[in-house]
Amino acid sequence: RRRRPAAPCPAVPAVILLLQEAIPQHFWCIPFSVDGNPAPSVRWLFNGSALAEGPYIHTRIVEYEHNSTVLHGCLQLNRPTHVNNGNYTLLVRNALGSAARTVQGRFMDNPFSFNPEDSLQGPVETPDEHAFGVSVAVALAVCACFFLSVTLIALNKCGRRSKFGINRKPPSLPRPQGCGSPSGGVHHVQRRDIVLKWELGEGAFGKVFLAECYNLLPEQEKMLVAVKALKEATESARLDFQREAELLTVLQHEHIVRFYGVCTDGEPLVMVFEYMKHGDLNRFLRSHGPDAKILDEGKGQPCGQLTLSHMLQIATQIASGMVYLASLHFVHRDLATRNCLVGHDLVVKIGDFGMSRDIYSTDYYRVGGRTMLPIRWMPPESILYRKFTTESDIWSFGVVLWEIFTYGKQPWYQLSNTEAIECITQGRELERPRTCPSEVYDIMQSCWQREPQQRQGIRELHSRLQALVKTPPVYLDILG
Ligand code: AMP
Repeated sequence: RRRRPAAPCPAVPAVILLLQEAIPQHFWCIPFSVDGNPAPSVRWLFNGSALAEGPYIHTRIVEYEHNSTVLHGCLQLNRPTHVNNGNYTLLVRNALGSAARTVQGRFMDNPFSFNPEDSLQGPVETPDEHAFGVSVAVALAVCACFFLSVTLIALNKCGRRSKFGINRKPPSLPRPQGCGSPSGGVHHVQRRDIVLKWELGEGAFGKVFLAECYNLLPEQEKMLVAVKALKEATESARLDFQREAELLTVLQHEHIVRFYGVCTDGEPLVMVFEYMKHGDLNRFLRSHGPDAKILDEGKGQPCGQLTLSHMLQIATQIASGMVYLASLHFVHRDLATRNCLVGHDLVVKIGDFGMSRDIYSTDYYRVGGRTMLPIRWMPPESILYRKFTTESDIWSFGVVLWEIFTYGKQPWYQLSNTEAIECITQGRELERPRTCPSEVYDIMQSCWQREPQQRQGIRELHSRLQALVKTPPVYLDILG
């Protein structure tokens, strides 16, 4: 939190410049901007009564605008539920005046009136099947245990570690134009041009902030950006940061999140990305599933859960980004919905290259010290031999499709990490999600061929998805 500079003249009555609907980020935030000199008091009413602030709901002043009395802040809500749905009234007051404005907050439906698990689970095992499954699992576990320990120790030993906890071989990529500069073509942004607004989230790499950036593009004086701040700036972290920035500079595609450059004058080191207003795709899917109410942008009206057509559009855009990465022989190694971002108008981009494993730590399996493996998204050859290829990315793409059609469930959510490893290496497949037409499940299955060479190419997968977007399959949920 920054300190307000000495109050400048002239006096300004308290006014509310902006009050917007809650943004679902790391914490939910009801953003506001107010002006006033002397500095106004800021209070809230919830459904007409004074809102008691505490650790779960509180006002956070994020930024005092440079050379002005305007301040920006958030009513920050930590994991709000249906209990928090209602009207939020912002009251500001100073000696010269007061103002009030109300916005509706809708976070989720009452979870006790509907159980989403009932409609989304795959076929349920009967007790007998379950008992059989358990005895087979126990027998397998004994054999697999020794084998797995040996394999996982080997996995840990043979990986190359990269800075932000990513294990990836340096990809061979074309160099960007004009990369003769010492910073490998990476654009530099001046620190004074970045005005942080509030925190959007946190990854292994560090915190991510929403910021306003001045003089970034010729056609816009200032624009919103997402800024990732490197949390530790050791010499090796700096080197890795520079390498990652060079790599990101090369990756330019409509379905890869746009990288604008770095800011390295002073601490912390930051990377500047395009701002994707709906955040990561996993969270987006969960909040647009049957158990969450969505607000139609600007209108505050619920607009329902994602349809088949939305899901196909999301999948096709990710496939398009993957076609591009494959054309550069870039192996992602960590394709998952948590690593994709959602912008305006359901634009989806691959947005993270392996830096998100703090928040979603349960999606990774820690092998030995620092290595975290996204085993639920990995094919048998990556789990067993740590072989990552364009074909292993295709397997993960199939899992991403499954995530999309389950509104963001964790693959093999019913299993522990070791059980999931066992299932995958034994050749068991994820079940067809209830909302998934057979045409789409066929696509998933063509990603999950055990032999990497048998998996369908990403271009063909992309074309198949495009065809389904044009002519969506008629899907009758007969059990619905
Ligand atoms: P990361 O460090 O990339 O894993 O980011 C952590 C979280 O910050 C993500 O899960 C997103 O919710 C958010 N985030 C990251 N990048 C962006 C972006 N470009 N636009 C909006 N939100 C972002």
